[in-house]
Amino acid sequence: MVATGLSEVPRLSALMTRGIQNGVEGPRMMEGHEATTLEPELQCFIKALWSPSSGIVDSHSLMLSLVGEAESHGTTFSYNTTVIGGHIEGNQIQIHVFESNVIASWNGSSELDSELILIPKVVVNSAGLSAPAIAKRMKGLPDCIIPASHYACGCYFTLSNTKSPFKHLIYPIPEVGGLGVHVSLDLNGQIKFGLDVEWIKGIDDIPSFLNMYSH
Ligand SMILES: Cc1cc2nc3c(=O)[nH]c(=O)nc-3n(C[C@H](O)[C@H](O)[C@H](O)COP(=O)(O)OP(=O)(O)OC[C@H]3O[C@@H](n4cnc5c(N)ncnc54)[C@H](O)[C@@H]3O)c2cc1C
Repeated sequence: MVATGLSEVPRLSALMTRGIQNGVEGPRMMEGHEATTLEPELQCFIKALWSPSSGIVDSHSLMLSLVGEAESHGTTFSYNTTVIGGHIEGNQIQIHVFESNVIASWNGSSELDSELILIPKVVVNSAGLSAPAIAKRMKGLPDCIIPASHYACGCYFTLSNTKSPFKHLIYPIPEVGGLGVHVSLDLNGQIKFGLDVEWIKGIDDIPSFLNMYSH
């Protein structure tokens, strides 16, 4: 991670401290010339934060391994299942669940009767970009506890037809809403620059299962 001005050095130090607190192994500050020795095509005149234990993983294999580990500890996964909403009854949240193929053939105009209602002890809403939208479909959940959504989109730019000039992942100081345009390498050695951040205004929350009816 590279500081491009003296004013960014305290942020690099703060990120190093946070990394150490989070158990990252071996991060250290390096002078600009050390960084350019590692990466001759990099411009780094001030300082960089070096994290020797950072790297890239095969995300699909990682997920398979996490699934295996979770199942061996008693987790049951319910694939092709869509949460369409829920309601509060007493002090419990009841979750309304459908098989995803039922939703796929739904034309969006009529009310769906709930196929299955789950009454869990604990609910973790981890629906990614759809999480606030799903929360809003929980009848009886006060609006004031649902975080507002702020959507942004971004692009990656691929460097093609040339050998990668870099051997490491290279990041600027993170910006609001993103990591800053950084250099990513994938397992095939393909290099990408991105993501840029473009804030999107005027979009209402759309649960992912309703996306197909929104345009
Ligand atoms: C192009 C791109 C590149 C990225 N690269 C990196 C990277 O290199 N390294 C990194 O660390 N991070 C990267 N990220 C970020 C990372 O992918 C996200 O931070 C992470 O996936 C968020 O995880 P999540 O579980 O919160 O949400 P998600 O991964 O979005 O998972 C949400 C899940 O909820 C499910 N869901 C949604 N609605 C419903 C519903 N109604 N019922 C049932 N299920 C539902 C969805 O199908 C999905 O499986 C990248 C992101 C993008 C877009």
